[in-house]
Amino acid sequence: MTHKNMSQAFETVIGLEVHLQLSTKTKIFCGCANMFGSAPNTNVCPVCLGLPGTLPVLNHQTLLYAIKVGLALNAHINPFIKFDRKNYYYPDLPKGYQISQYDFPVAKDGFVMIKTDKGPKRIGIKRAHLEEDAGKLMHDNTDNCSLVDYNRTGTPLIEIVTQPDLRSAGESYDYLNTLKLMLQYLGVSDCDMEKGSLRCDANVSIRPAESTSFGTKTELKNMNSFRAVKSALEYEVGRHKQVILSGGKIVQETLLWDDQKSVTVAMRSKEQAHDYRYFPDPDLVPFTVDYKVLDQVRAELPELPGVKLERFIKQYGLNEYDAGVLVMDQAAANFFESCCESYNQPKKIANWLNGAMLKEMNERKVGISELGLTSVNLIELIKSVEDGVLSHLAGKEVLTLMLDSGKSAGQIIQQQSLAQVSDDAVLMAIVDEIIQQNPTAVEQIKQGKFAAAGFLVGQAMKKSGGKANPKKLNELITRRISHA
Ligand code: ADP
Ligand code: MG
Ligand code: ZN
Repeated sequence: MTHKNMSQAFETVIGLEVHLQLSTKTKIFCGCANMFGSAPNTNVCPVCLGLPGTLPVLNHQTLLYAIKVGLALNAHINPFIKFDRKNYYYPDLPKGYQISQYDFPVAKDGFVMIKTDKGPKRIGIKRAHLEEDAGKLMHDNTDNCSLVDYNRTGTPLIEIVTQPDLRSAGESYDYLNTLKLMLQYLGVSDCDMEKGSLRCDANVSIRPAESTSFGTKTELKNMNSFRAVKSALEYEVGRHKQVILSGGKIVQETLLWDDQKSVTVAMRSKEQAHDYRYFPDPDLVPFTVDYKVLDQVRAELPELPGVKLERFIKQYGLNEYDAGVLVMDQAAANFFESCCESYNQPKKIANWLNGAMLKEMNERKVGISELGLTSVNLIELIKSVEDGVLSHLAGKEVLTLMLDSGKSAGQIIQQQSLAQVSDDAVLMAIVDEIIQQNPTAVEQIKQGKFAAAGFLVGQAMKKSGGKANPKKLNELITRRISHA
């Protein structure tokens, strides 16, 4: 190996497969509840248990959701709907095959736009197809046995597969966040990785920077957060480099991410080439979706995050940061717009929503709709601060009290006598007292050390119980001393 080769630059190539559980009321091919967290084996029936003589019936809602996702992915929708059997044996798969889509995925050839340092980048979507989830195996180490829960069997899934277009772990992380936000906007899934509603497998390879063909990939599984996906990819890219630079070859295999040890571990001792013997499922007759259905789903698509972001910047004159934080939360973005309808101060409203309100939501661990606040309530509060009735600090306290009690800003201001004191006579009495008590500071101000005025304002503020208008205090103190 030449010296040049040792310091060889590599390019990382990544493709991601996301499995998304659809939040329909019932499962994809039977009437069982599609519900997380029930007692084991309570949401089951002969169909999803794969008992002989039963027949699957497609839940139409899953198809509508899949079309919706496909359209949002800018993909081509296959109106010809066909299901196939993917055959393999595993105890969590009672039928011995998974119903999936092989040659006619609902959607193919789409893209997702992500933001990168070098500007927007298009990540190709190879396909998105419908399939059913398998059951869940639980390994009981005390009794040294495995248990199986079939509640998850037949949960509707959509699998979204990218082209190998991602070029770093960071880009993959950004893609996942962009995709997740879009899926949340569509309202097709709760996208909760902790519950397993969203799962991601990552395929990764490296190649010499100037190469046009791909290197051998490995597939990574068992990451239970986007951060874990990023860490697993970073680790695996490092491992690939090490293997190749030391003259070895990457073996195509599936590896499991060990989050505790932060390493990837080979899943099987030797890689079996899978032959799933795909064939059309004879129990589910192919059919064609009416173009009217496609039009209807298209008409019901919500404004998607990327479009909303641009609109917020343009329509409300927000900066990219403020608009970005609002768009991260669809409900907050809607709340923002209803506030703007009755009070034309978008920047001020955005500051409140992205500051004090976001803090309250995080502390209370709730979304904006669970705060029990209307846009009218918030506007009343913002106006009280803008009109000088409340200091900014007191405004935030009033917000907390409003959320605790469900009362309006006006009611709380009255009850707690929180209104900011701007009355000259009241303030002057406080100022005089403070001036008397702090002769040293007064002397310093007289000698031109104006920093001491800040100290006096602070003292006066304390005396007023935080209710004084600090600007007014400053004026009065300076005036009093210069006239003394
Ligand atoms: P397989 O047949 O092994 O499942 P696919 O062609 O279906 O492979 O691709 C699965 C995923 O792996 C896709 O997201 C794809 O973009 C990605 N992928 C394919 N080849 C590579 C490669 N050489 N390096 C990284 N990712 C790849
Ligand atoms: Mg594949
Ligand atoms: Zn069932």
